[in-house]
Amino acid sequence: MRERPDLPEVVQRLIDPEVAGLRVIAASSAAAGEPIRVTVEAQNAVGATAGGFSGPVPLVVAGPSGLSRAGEATVEAGIGHAEIAIGEPGVHRVQALASDRLRAVSDPVEVSADEPAQRLLWGDIHSHIRERRAQALISDADELMGPPTVAAAYEWARDVIGLHFASVTDHDLKLTGAEWRETIEDARRFTDEGRFVAFPGYEWGDSSGMAMNYGHRHVVYRRSRVRGVEPVPLLRCCDQPTNTAPGLYAALRGLVPTEDVLVVPHHTARGGGNTWMNWDYFDPELERLCEVFSIWGSSERMGDPWPIEYLPSGGYFKTGEARGHHLQDGLARGCRFGFTAGSESHDGRPGGAIVHGPYVIAETDFLAPPGITAVWAERFTRDGIFDALRARRCYGTSGARIIVRCALGDTPMGGEVPAASLSGPAEVRAEVIGSGRISACELVRTTEVVDSAAPAGDRVCVTLCDRRAVRPGDCYYVRVTQADGHMAWASPIFIT
Ligand SMILES: [Zn+2]
Ligand SMILES: [Zn+2]
Repeated sequence: MRERPDLPEVVQRLIDPEVAGLRVIAASSAAAGEPIRVTVEAQNAVGATAGGFSGPVPLVVAGPSGLSRAGEATVEAGIGHAEIAIGEPGVHRVQALASDRLRAVSDPVEVSADEPAQRLLWGDIHSHIRERRAQALISDADELMGPPTVAAAYEWARDVIGLHFASVTDHDLKLTGAEWRETIEDARRFTDEGRFVAFPGYEWGDSSGMAMNYGHRHVVYRRSRVRGVEPVPLLRCCDQPTNTAPGLYAALRGLVPTEDVLVVPHHTARGGGNTWMNWDYFDPELERLCEVFSIWGSSERMGDPWPIEYLPSGGYFKTGEARGHHLQDGLARGCRFGFTAGSESHDGRPGGAIVHGPYVIAETDFLAPPGITAVWAERFTRDGIFDALRARRCYGTSGARIIVRCALGDTPMGGEVPAASLSGPAEVRAEVIGSGRISACELVRTTEVVDSAAPAGDRVCVTLCDRRAVRPGDCYYVRVTQADGHMAWASPIFIT
């Protein structure tokens, strides 16, 4: 430490090579005997890669019938990978054991006897790279941290935090035409189906009033070219006629098939004007998803454990929560959307932001951990993941890889059920495998908790019921809270 006193303190801490801990990340679902990828990262005191650590790290799998050796990861300059196969069906956790002090346990790995019909894949479709310089991480740091490029962000997402998909969504006002072309090209270049998928995207909206009263949205495209020909468009909030939400939707509809684009409102309840979601302009066809959680906190409802813009300590923008703009307010108005969680990383680390401006996120009490999105995908392909997102077969978490399944009858998260097809009250089956002890698994009807289970351990398999008869316009979703504070929000099932 302190080798470069000319650099801001936060940069010195990010580049500190001294190892303080390990992290091990493994795929969440696999068939018995199938090779799965394991990533081991040596981390420094702020959770950045500790470049000073190299060496073999033995791996052990803890499963239903005890512990078994599973080879080792060779860590070089802080990062190592291994492929392991687990033969026994059931829930396992991978342990990385470098020493008594340096050890880590992965989140759960669910191994099925046969090829799983759907795989749980993790991603982040809301992240930024082009503000690192502007946010105290001055350009001198580039030679030490690597340049803030789209390519570097995708390498980090794939190789360091073990995501399956990602989108770098820089602000439209900060992207040049050349940078947009690079964004599109890198999404194409980094996609290697079965290993990693990158979606081209950007953020529409602005906090200074350019696109007043409409809020922020990230626009994520299925692929880099429209019908294989024209590059996907960058429709900016500063240009006519895409400076209004309806103008953006109309322009998108004219240029891109609606099934090939997602418009995702985010930090919908962040106060201060120009940043919150205006539900008057919700578009059910394009806005299939809304972001429930990011480093700003949760936009689910007033009173969440991670409130967006936490005011008692000052908050980041000192604006507080915007009442009436939470996701529950949209659901109560009949808007139908699924849930994602994003990192909203501004430091080039999709799914795993460490710093925001001069702050180490984990050391503040006004920023929350970076969120990530899970999809239940039939195939690990560009279309398999995008189709799962469009189908709302997805959920958001506060970063922990909690495995969540839920269904009302045969209809999984994100689906729609006609009220006439239900003879009794709604019964939602929830199956959760936590990354730690689960303190609550709740069934929410639109805005109200109607049933809950408080399991003793890290797994729950329960049927949660609403005593009231279902009504068209209701929706039901499962919210999970762990004892360590991590949360998951499954996309609602809508009663039509
Ligand atoms: Zn934003
Ligand atoms: Zn953003």
